[in-house]
Amino acid sequence: MRYISTRGGAPRLDFEAVLLAGLARDGGLYVPESWPSLKPKTLAGFAGKPYAEVAAAVMAPFIGPLGSKGTIPQKTFQSMVAETYAGFRHEAVTPLVEVGEGVWIEELFHGPTLAFKDLALQLVGRLYDHVLKKQGRRVTIIGATSGDTGSAALEACRDRRAIDIFILHPLGRVSEVQRRQMTTIDAGNVFNIAIDGSFDDCQDIVKACFNDHAFSDRIGMSAVNSINWARVMAQIVYYVTAAVALGAPNRKVSFSVPSGNFGNVFAGYAAKQMGLDIGQLIVGSNRNDILTRFFKSGAMKISDVVPSLSPSMDIQISSNLERLLFDLFKRNGTKLAEAMTAFRKTGRFAAPKAGWPAVQKLFAAYKLDDAGTLKVMGDLYKRTGQLIDPHSAIGVAAAEAMRKDKSVPVVALATAHPAKFPDAVEKATGLRPTLPPHLGNLLSRRERYDVLPKDLGKIQDYVLAHRRSGSGN
Ligand SMILES: *Cc1c(COP(=O)(O)O)cnc(C)c1O
Repeated sequence: MRYISTRGGAPRLDFEAVLLAGLARDGGLYVPESWPSLKPKTLAGFAGKPYAEVAAAVMAPFIGPLGSKGTIPQKTFQSMVAETYAGFRHEAVTPLVEVGEGVWIEELFHGPTLAFKDLALQLVGRLYDHVLKKQGRRVTIIGATSGDTGSAALEACRDRRAIDIFILHPLGRVSEVQRRQMTTIDAGNVFNIAIDGSFDDCQDIVKACFNDHAFSDRIGMSAVNSINWARVMAQIVYYVTAAVALGAPNRKVSFSVPSGNFGNVFAGYAAKQMGLDIGQLIVGSNRNDILTRFFKSGAMKISDVVPSLSPSMDIQISSNLERLLFDLFKRNGTKLAEAMTAFRKTGRFAAPKAGWPAVQKLFAAYKLDDAGTLKVMGDLYKRTGQLIDPHSAIGVAAAEAMRKDKSVPVVALATAHPAKFPDAVEKATGLRPTLPPHLGNLLSRRERYDVLPKDLGKIQDYVLAHRRSGSGN
């Protein structure tokens, strides 16, 4: 498989290069040159198979051809995938729970850091390790987090000899559990920076570090943010396993996804491009609704980020949307690059008319404020006894509000464990969820992090001063 940039101005790369590159040289995001296909027979064959086995089969075409010169041997890849998902606390890895007539929750929070990001990052950490060892290289990862990416990335990369990892989070805008999951990791290659600013400020700094080629080359910079293709790839799997469990390929299934960066839901779009029969992709947002406004109107206009009960979706610039826009622009990278440059300048963007009807047919969007979120959490608990976190609640509400065809089951992705947001859960239900045993002493562990202003130069100096490696490559 080869990958091309959404902005048309970067070299085509193979999987290993895309894994390590993150963002493309031209500022674009890498996408596969073509979509591998999931045949009905293949899908039928997945029924009843363990998650890891389906995962290896779904991902193989994106990496391979496996075992050919220069790529990961098939056996190695399979055992890497098996080891990844053996670390999850539920046997089914992403179990489905029915919470209403044809409405299901897919629990994506049984990994080490209790958020769906573990499903991709636990694998990405292992892939990095493998490729870096093979190439005899080191990298410096710099990432931005609105809460959950950070801990998932740090857990995936901690103590890996070829990696130094710096995670930027917006000061005071992540929950205490989220912050402590990052700042209490005791590993010599882990650095936490709290930025006096918003998540978008953190993300802009990471992008600017990348685009400063002298700097990024010097430190061997890499990203595990949701712009990294390998993360999207690993997320495709749970759309497939849920659909198969509910009757694919003989039955259509819809998904409802609480979204910020559009990374998770883009994986659903990818699954659809590969041939999975997805009815609707419903996008949920909190008050930071640039995505839902976009799907309703075709226009995007940036406004200020307001803190909410679902901080991992407090975002106004959804990086991964660019991958969908690339298709909307009929994969014309030059045109998309022009539109994105204008968007950054003016804060406005309008979708090209040609592809819009298809987007409207597949996608629906729903916005829910904090009061509505608490109500959904409380109602669901009363009705089913199920505790859900605020992000997942937005997905459930969006599923119920926006599903068109009641004969098509809809799967709401539960993106975080309720214990990650205990204050909100307690407010909504009167019950305080407890952390799983491996995180029991989180609130008493020692924290380590530094606070820096949103200043590119200061952050680059910090990275240069703290990273352990002598040279990038
Ligand atoms: C990251 C995150 C999201 C948003 O995912 P995107 O890929 O950015 O759309 C939603 N819920 C939780 C709990 C998250 O951690």
